[in-house]
Amino acid sequence: MSAQQKKGHVVAFAFPFGSHPTPLLHLVQRLAAAAPPGVNFSYFNTAESNQKVLPNADLKSYDNIKAYDVEDGLPEGYVFSGNPLERIELFVKSTPDNFRRRLEEVVEETGLKASCLLTDAFCGFRWTWRRNWGFLGWRSGRRGLRRFRFISQNQDQTLDFLPGLSAIHASDLPHELLHLDQPFSRLLYDMSLALPRATAVVLNSFAGIDPDVETDLKSKLKKILNVGPSPPPPGIDQDGCLSWLSSHAAASVAYISFGTMLTPPPELLALVEALEEKQIPYLWSFRDDSKRQLLQRFFEKTESVGKVVEWAPQTRILAHPSVGVFVTHCGWNSVVESITGGVPMICRPFFGDQMINRRRVQDVWRIGVGVEGGVFTKSGMMTALDVVMCGEEGKKMRENIGRLRECASRAVAENGSSTENFKSLVDIVTSSSHQ
Ligand code: UDP
Repeated sequence: MSAQQKKGHVVAFAFPFGSHPTPLLHLVQRLAAAAPPGVNFSYFNTAESNQKVLPNADLKSYDNIKAYDVEDGLPEGYVFSGNPLERIELFVKSTPDNFRRRLEEVVEETGLKASCLLTDAFCGFRWTWRRNWGFLGWRSGRRGLRRFRFISQNQDQTLDFLPGLSAIHASDLPHELLHLDQPFSRLLYDMSLALPRATAVVLNSFAGIDPDVETDLKSKLKKILNVGPSPPPPGIDQDGCLSWLSSHAAASVAYISFGTMLTPPPELLALVEALEEKQIPYLWSFRDDSKRQLLQRFFEKTESVGKVVEWAPQTRILAHPSVGVFVTHCGWNSVVESITGGVPMICRPFFGDQMINRRRVQDVWRIGVGVEGGVFTKSGMMTALDVVMCGEEGKKMRENIGRLRECASRAVAENGSSTENFKSLVDIVTSSSHQ
């Protein structure tokens, strides 16, 4: 083995959509800060995604991390049809060759062979690799898929054949799971094959949140490492959200965000009518210019009680005592951040795992409610706001969320389970780097 190889080279493959690239980059940064000298880290992502995530990452202060662009699979001059999954499908079609080609170039340039792969679970691919990593994800398997197809004919049926998931209904499943002919479904299926082969599966979650699921995963995967909740990124508050919140009473403000990928739902007028009628101050992370016109009058009319920003320092906002409810699409990161902030949720999920997360928030942990009928209506939203912000039920939700929040704090305390798991992760990365 050459001296260079002995130094170790940890290669991270990002899935370049939604909120996926950022948590993986944060994990790489945490590992790079904790790894012994001589271990190098490379972060592979598409140019477009790198342009979004790298400016906030301050990689200059790490001399052991380098970021590289990989091809995004878009043919030259490609004209989009308007299908929101199109970009993802083109990327998926171009993997893993795009990653493989770029990695070969990097090995050639640096002389450092990859000693450890740290990949988003969506980048499981059909590779045979000696050691790999899954990061964030869920599994199914062919038998599971057949069961899912079968029960999907009865939307009310629950997944009681999967430990810890008996509260989940067939209607909560992402339909991508049921159509194996689609590129995105194949990606999920490949993930289910890759995860059991991974040396460890790292999760942005914590002990105590889903004990039955954790026990089941432990019996099926080689190693499960809950390392969350991840420490909050520094997050600049360029629009003064935090000082604005500080001018409001405790638990009085509704924070609204539908994540990084989504255009807000079509029934937004119903949401704003409910906010206006209830006179609830709101802070809204809002980026969709196509809908801005629709809401402009409302934004102007409610200027004295509302604040609209393009990007909010969400973790810090949810930790602020003035926030009384989070109106969310139920992306996993948002759910974890709401738990660590102690804020109950009103859930309006759209796709992927968001319906499953909503079900767990509402029926398993009882720390929020879904909107009536699954879409915003003025009366449904007014009821949800009453339940969460004023009623006895809301008080109970805050108590329940407090218990989960304590589990999260214990996990990340000194000697806590996530802290210890992170040390194991550093050891595994380091030792595989020295093989
Ligand atoms: N986020 C943020 N500010 C915003 C909107 C989103 O910091 O204005 C962050 C949020 O804190 C979370 C991530 O973006 O960490 C969204 O991830 P999630 O899994 O909730 O949703 P996705 O974007 O993947 O649908």
